[in-house]
Amino acid sequence: MQMKVGIIGSGIGALASAIELKKLGLDVTVFEANAVIGGKIVEQHLNGFRFDMGPSVFTEPELMQTLLTRLDPNANFPYRELPESCRYFFNDGQQVVLPVHKHEVVQTLKDHFGEDASKSKAYLNKMEANYRAIYPVFIEISLHRWKHLVGFPLWTALKRLFKYGLHLTMNQQNRQFFKNPKTVQIFDRMATYNGSSPYLAPAMLNIISQLEFNEGPAMPEGGMVQITRRAHQLAAQHDVKFHTNERVLEILHQNSTIHGLKTTKGSYDFDLVVSNMDIHYTYERLLPSVKSPRFLLKQEKSSSAVVFYWGISRAFPALGVHNIFFTEDYQAEFKAIFESKTLHPDPTVYVHISSKVETADAPAGKENWFVMVNAPINVGQDWDAEIQLLRARILEKLSKALNTDIEPLIEVEQINEPRLIDARYSGKQGSIYGNASNNAFAAFLRHPNFSKKLKGLYFAGVTVHPGGGIPLAINSAKIVARCVQEDYPSLRNKA
Ligand SMILES: Cc1cc2nc3c(=O)[nH]c(=O)nc-3n(C[C@H](O)[C@H](O)[C@H](O)COP(=O)(O)OP(=O)(O)OC[C@H]3O[C@@H](n4cnc5c(N)ncnc54)[C@H](O)[C@@H]3O)c2cc1C
Repeated sequence: MQMKVGIIGSGIGALASAIELKKLGLDVTVFEANAVIGGKIVEQHLNGFRFDMGPSVFTEPELMQTLLTRLDPNANFPYRELPESCRYFFNDGQQVVLPVHKHEVVQTLKDHFGEDASKSKAYLNKMEANYRAIYPVFIEISLHRWKHLVGFPLWTALKRLFKYGLHLTMNQQNRQFFKNPKTVQIFDRMATYNGSSPYLAPAMLNIISQLEFNEGPAMPEGGMVQITRRAHQLAAQHDVKFHTNERVLEILHQNSTIHGLKTTKGSYDFDLVVSNMDIHYTYERLLPSVKSPRFLLKQEKSSSAVVFYWGISRAFPALGVHNIFFTEDYQAEFKAIFESKTLHPDPTVYVHISSKVETADAPAGKENWFVMVNAPINVGQDWDAEIQLLRARILEKLSKALNTDIEPLIEVEQINEPRLIDARYSGKQGSIYGNASNNAFAAFLRHPNFSKKLKGLYFAGVTVHPGGGIPLAINSAKIVARCVQEDYPSLRNKA
């Protein structure tokens, strides 16, 4: 008889799990509490402007392509490679466009920041080699099953053990290679890609540079929303059932085995369950009688964000798809986010403008600005007051840097913030990626992709192993599928 799996949530981790498990021949049903499928990768249309509400940086596009071909060998995921990684604006007026690919990056760092070309090259080569060694053993497999670990990739990764800078933070390692504090700041920024601080996160995370600078970011044709839209469409075409507006209330289990889900609309029998809900809330809300792994769950949470979606009434040629307006004091900003849980008075502001390449995203001559500041998680701050103050500070900063009064140009506005991230997507306290990577052991302190207590229960998405970001969420689904195959021998010969 066909095994039945219920999936909680419809973020990219859930959709990838649905596709992987459908490929194994399972009967798959997805439950989404919201009206729309896609989790944080959803869009909004406002007066002729289109906004991607969540992620804006898309790397490793080949993972999406491979995912879709799991059910349709002819599937294609169209995207464009961006010629720039990001445009950087500093408070002293310096502006630098960072290109992609080693040679160009090295030259730009030399020309604008006076960096030694051989050191920059050595850094980028090292990050590429580290990335290639670490990816198969940290990202593509479970760290919690020995049989995933044994083999050639582990040996390859271990051979480079002394090259990872295990005793260093990201910032410490970046300072060893680069002399200009602005270059260090640019490379330190990679810590924000999983909601962490470069002053605490291990140097190992500097491998993110490989994606940002050596490979470069991409943009799906039609915007980021195509990531979840295409996965949803493909899964639906292959008989994955989708229930929207149906919140899961409880994971049903007996004698340490899963047997179904209770939702706002009824109870369903399932042989397996995959939770894409934030791991903290999965335990707190859906498994109240199960002892939670407290040590894993009490780790420091990743940062949250405040986002302003602004429809802007004119175009700014000085801006690209990705733009960063740096703070003067990066360390103080991360201290504010992770220690005092406040917004720094001079925040680093990220402005993403998809209409630079997706021209239909804004009316002719106008731009859709996604203006984001990394923020602390919600611990009861007076967000209404904080956000008004932040808005004024951002407007002042951008107006000065762009030599234009920005506020009168805002035609439409929407705001996203920690309380809403918690309420809309069930991200614990508004954290975007679950646990932060703010210590050397963080990679080992993420929840496994399976339950050690309940047979038939699995976990996918950015709050569990391997961690934050779209590529890792897709990898989490692959790991879930592998674990399911190992646990249910009848599925082993299904590819
Ligand atoms: C502002 C912002 C910017 C970001 N930028 C980037 C970026 O540039 N690049 C990047 O890679 N990542 C970025 N991220 C993180 C990104 O959102 C994740 O990488 C990815 O989309 C998370 O996918 P996920 O599978 O973990 O699930 P999520 O997208 O978190 O989806 C989980 C889903 O589960 C549903 N759910 C929860 N509980 C229940 C329940 N009980 N019953 C039914 N449904 C439930 C929720 O409604 C939600 O739809 C950003 C996030 C935010 C908020």
